[in-house]
Amino acid sequence: MWGLSMTAKECWTCKYQHMPQTSFLGECSYFVKKGLPLKEIPPHVVDKGCKYYEKKKGKSNKAKSQIGEILTLFDGKIMP
Ligand code: SF4
Repeated sequence: MWGLSMTAKECWTCKYQHMPQTSFLGECSYFVKKGLPLKEIPPHVVDKGCKYYEKKKGKSNKAKSQIGEILTLFDGKIMP
């Protein structure tokens, strides 16, 4: 089950997360500015973020928070 941590510094709200159609969790572009390639974001990092986190402009956790509330309300089971 995916953990919805609701932390403020997760990859989902980071300006370095790049979401190509070929990646489910996205790629991190932080090291691109240092001349390195995009890196696939691992599952254990995507909901936690890292020390390089920078908030994406105009991005909020509102939709994810609502999904988290629904999953909590239905004990993680949306489908019967
Ligand atoms: S790994 Fe760090 S820098 Fe990269 S998208 Fe996630 S929080 Fe941002």
